Amino acid sequence: MWQRELVRAAVRGGGAGSPRAASVAAASQLRRVLESQLEDIRGSGTWKNERVIASRQGPHLRLAAGGDGLSSHPEVIRASVEALEKFGAGLSSVRFICGTQSIHKDLEEKIARFHQREDAILYASCFDANAGIFEALLTPEDAVLSDELNHASIIDGIRLCKANKYRYKHMDMEDLEAKLQDAQKHRLRLVATDGAFSMDGDIAPLREICQLAQKYDALVFIDECHATGFLGPNGRGTDELLGVMDKVTIINSTLGKALGGAAGGYTTGPKPLIDLLRQRSRPYLFSNSLPPAVVGCASKALHLLMESNAIAQSMAAKTQRFRSKMTAAGFTISGKDHPICPVMLGDARLAAVMAEDMLNRGIYVIGFSYPVVPKGKARIRVQISAVHSDEDIDRCVEAFTEVGRKHGALP
Ligand code: PLP
Repeated sequence: MWQRELVRAAVRGGGAGSPRAASVAAASQLRRVLESQLEDIRGSGTWKNERVIASRQGPHLRLAAGGDGLSSHPEVIRASVEALEKFGAGLSSVRFICGTQSIHKDLEEKIARFHQREDAILYASCFDANAGIFEALLTPEDAVLSDELNHASIIDGIRLCKANKYRYKHMDMEDLEAKLQDAQKHRLRLVATDGAFSMDGDIAPLREICQLAQKYDALVFIDECHATGFLGPNGRGTDELLGVMDKVTIINSTLGKALGGAAGGYTTGPKPLIDLLRQRSRPYLFSNSLPPAVVGCASKALHLLMESNAIAQSMAAKTQRFRSKMTAAGFTISGKDHPICPVMLGDARLAAVMAEDMLNRGIYVIGFSYPVVPKGKARIRVQISAVHSDEDIDRCVEAFTEVGRKHGALP
């Protein structure tokens, strides 16, 4: 489409040799470069298709042409519709101009209460929360120590700040300790880690991290996108699971996964930090306020989680069922205790064909390959939901076993 526009512009603007003709040549060259890259991706077997869902998300869904718990909960949907009707579609503004409604303040208060922290601040996404925190908090006098496998948004957020940067080996406490020793010369030290790493389903050794932080006078930051709402006895997250809620200083998380699944993110922690973020954090200051329907849905999801720990408890039991049955069947499941269960296969094509065959058997799983995971570490990532029944889980294990045998992943 854009190329046709350029051709028309070239015709209007003069013949060969004119600047417009040159831009048509550049556009054709770009197209060739892109097509060759796309061909390489197809050839390597790592092409990713988007599967179009023609129903709500849930344990059972309908695919076009061919979930997750709270996002389809009737009370969550009703709360979202009510907020839409009462507070409108959106604020057309950032928070400090005319973008703050009572529901934003209520949700921030609820988030802080849920995590047992002093205060909270909302963002349009957790990507934004991660983009906003490091630059606002840390100066060239300070240091940040980051797990090498942290989520891309933490890496980008750290890139934006001027602190001294240390990258420690994935969950390697010896390496973290060495880097903390080196970082003693700086004013503040902040250890930053995902609470749970989504690609491998592994959980950060937060107890050990907090012990080291205490020893070397450092702060601890965790990204809880893959923990909030379901890890720990009451779904508070990794810090609750590992008994260190009072030792982690700052939590960033998303409203776009377990907390209703719509969108939005937040930081929760000490009040002066949240006050500073409201003054200095760029994605907060320069991006629109969360729409009321999204706020309503997240607020109800949090309310349901605070009312009962049934969801967190059933997630843990179902995760254990799937992981143990798959391991007994002969598969290698990466990580431990996390409802994200990566079935490790190694080869990208094998992951792609097995995922396709699982879909043919009515089970929605996705093959992950490079560049989402390292080369040679392709896998099918299974996500257990609290609304899956034991029968769903058993059927999934049986299908994996059949498909694995068919494609030689199992003897
Ligand atoms: N942090 C982690 C660990 C994530 O997995 C994600 C999203 O997948 C994000 C941050 C970004 O969250 P959001 O979708 O709210 O921007």
